[in-house]
Amino acid sequence: MSMRHLGRMHRGPRGVALLGGIVLLPAIALGLLAFRTLQGEQVREEYQRRERQAQILRLLESDLSKWILSRPGEADRDPFVLEVRQNRVFLPRLNVFLSPDNLRQAAPALAGRDSNLWRDAQATELRGGSSAGATESYRRLLSGNPVVSSWSKLALLRLALERADSSGAAVWLKEVQGSDQAAMTESGIPIRVAAALLLVEHHGPALRPETAAFLSETLSQLASGRWNLNAAQWTYYAREITFALDSSSGPRSGALATAAFVESLADAEREVLALDQSLEWRQDLLFAARLLPGTESVVVLFPGEDGNTGCVLARARVAHEAETRLAALTAAEDFKGRIGPSGDSARTAANSLGVFPFLEVSFVQREQALWRSHLRSYATYFATAALLLGAGAALFFTYRAAAREMEASRMKSEFVSSVSHEFRTPLSAIDALLERLESGKVRDEEMLRRYYRASRQEVQRLTGMVNQLLDLSRLNEGRKEFSFGRIDLNRLAEDAIQSFRNLGFGERLVPALDPEAPLNVSADPDAAYQCIHNLIDNALKYSPAGSPVTIGSGRRDGEVFLQVSDRGFGIAPEEQELIFDQFYRAKSADAGGVQGAGIGLALVKRIMQAHGGTVTLESQLGEGSTFRLTFPEAKP
Ligand code: ADP
Repeated sequence: MSMRHLGRMHRGPRGVALLGGIVLLPAIALGLLAFRTLQGEQVREEYQRRERQAQILRLLESDLSKWILSRPGEADRDPFVLEVRQNRVFLPRLNVFLSPDNLRQAAPALAGRDSNLWRDAQATELRGGSSAGATESYRRLLSGNPVVSSWSKLALLRLALERADSSGAAVWLKEVQGSDQAAMTESGIPIRVAAALLLVEHHGPALRPETAAFLSETLSQLASGRWNLNAAQWTYYAREITFALDSSSGPRSGALATAAFVESLADAEREVLALDQSLEWRQDLLFAARLLPGTESVVVLFPGEDGNTGCVLARARVAHEAETRLAALTAAEDFKGRIGPSGDSARTAANSLGVFPFLEVSFVQREQALWRSHLRSYATYFATAALLLGAGAALFFTYRAAAREMEASRMKSEFVSSVSHEFRTPLSAIDALLERLESGKVRDEEMLRRYYRASRQEVQRLTGMVNQLLDLSRLNEGRKEFSFGRIDLNRLAEDAIQSFRNLGFGERLVPALDPEAPLNVSADPDAAYQCIHNLIDNALKYSPAGSPVTIGSGRRDGEVFLQVSDRGFGIAPEEQELIFDQFYRAKSADAGGVQGAGIGLALVKRIMQAHGGTVTLESQLGEGSTFRLTFPEAKP
């Protein structure tokens, strides 16, 4: 009866297939499913994030355009608010055009008599000589048209100043003040301003009170944008008058404030001058923002109530404003926005801001959020994997426990039938022998003796088997007691060989024992003998009749060994470990029709373990086997 399937139940190909089918395949499938779901989740999250970012961009743009549009309300206080008139940028408050070749307010052309008289008067003045002649010529023009009359008053003021005729100058200054305020000189300077410049030019260390009053008033009229001037003119006049007022001890209302304003206006002008050359405003747009070339300023234009209006802003200010708003908009998001100049290739996935195309918005995941979302993904992934592995392991162990349980019950039943079978053979033999003896037919003395001897041998065989079984069960339960002593392994082997010689196996046994006796080990003599006996018995059983069985011994690395080699069936590699399991019998044993219960080697293995030794096997199928017992050498 064979037990060879038992030990392999959970290791065989069927077990593996079952394990794969029940545990691994579904586990892998579930794992893949979890992975795909996780991927889907990430894609969805990314999509939602983009949606939110697009929405935030729209909000930011509308916010910023509102902010810009709210600026004209502050126009009264802001010199930088502009209008575009006939493609020129105009500062309404100052009535100043910020452009290079601004229209010089061309003086009206004079005609006929006025023109001739004006030329004559100028020629007289240029010829030098007596200023009286020139004065006379200009006086004649006072009755002419209002324009030429104002020019004459100015000329008369100049002549008086040159003569250092202060009372005359005072007279002509009054006249100028009373003349047409909108009038311009031939070269496009407002008459009043031209008079002021003359006074500035001729004033002494101290300003006369009426002169100071006149200059102050002119300056405030300049600041209120009374005349259409270009910025260069404005700056020059305002600066000259301010310096004159500053350097004298007279009244200086607004002079210092004006000086500061002059500076800031000069800056604004520099920025806008550049704009003027390339004015391409798209009037149908809500508004258009432009970064001025070579400057850090932005001109923002938008259609106002009457025509286009706009303002000049520092770019840093726009960026700062955009950043503040963006930060507020993304405060509760798991990403934050950054503002930077457009076309910065270092940034990826940047969105240029529609309202301020020179600025770009990019979004970055917040560090913490990134970490959190990664952690979440990984945690989900690992939790799923761990769950699956756990489930797989649980299934596997359940399956293995069940398989072992089944094995154990099968082993028990097979053991019973196997042992019964083993017992029956000697019992039947004894039965047959006793029957012959009982029949009284055997009378020959010699025959009778042989019958008795045979019966005894069978009884001994039975006893041996029962003893082995009892030993094994004692060893299994840890009840077996050994009485260790110092023994010579060679002696023990010789005893075993002798016992097999007595049974008629002498010819097959080839002793090759180490001549350097004794090979002392510390062992239980009966147990050690049993091991050697079992190995020799097996070697004889599992090899062809007549083939040699070599019993060798020796020392190696502080160990003493005894080995039994045969040229028998051999044992397949996959069975070499299993034959030491109790009740396991190799395929070759069955095929050879050799009887046995699979107890002997299990017993040997357990005895060797109890002695701190080992039993090892080298075998090749069809060639033979060598079993080796190794003991630690006894201390001398
Ligand atoms: P039994 O000999 O009663 O079957 P053992 O425990 O002594 O039990 O041996 C277990 C199995 O090991 C044997 O059934 C046999 O298949 C194999 N075996 C043992 N010794 C040898 C050997 N010398 N050559 C080939 N097979 C062996």
